[in-house]
Amino acid sequence: MVNKLLQLFRSRNAKLPVAITPEFVQNSKAFCIFPWIHLHVTQLGTVTPCCQSPWDAAQSFGNINEQSVQEIWNGKAMCDFRKKMMADVPDTRCSRCYAKEAVGLRSLRQIFNHDYQSSRVGRH
Ligand code: SF4
Repeated sequence: MVNKLLQLFRSRNAKLPVAITPEFVQNSKAFCIFPWIHLHVTQLGTVTPCCQSPWDAAQSFGNINEQSVQEIWNGKAMCDFRKKMMADVPDTRCSRCYAKEAVGLRSLRQIFNHDYQSSRVGRH
């Protein structure tokens, strides 16, 4: 299962939209790299973009007990979330990150966007 997930993430990472440039990521207000490189499965089976976003079914991308990882990864909910991120439009599921940033704290979004940037330095 872990190997399958890693394979999936690696293949998805290789297909990142060209619009996601280092400058775009650095200057974004809402963009988060997570829906291209990560997903979170809760104890309920719900799948969310990360551990910081709400775990309830209504706000999740699906449920691992009812769908495959591939179905969820390529499903409408996750694709719509990626489109929002690419348009730098805030999503209510990410309110914890935005709230931290609003008071000057470093959010998970900023940490992972930065780590992603650092990891791809020299690959372009
Ligand atoms: S912006 Fe924050 S809450 Fe939203 S997916 Fe990224 S890390 Fe998670």
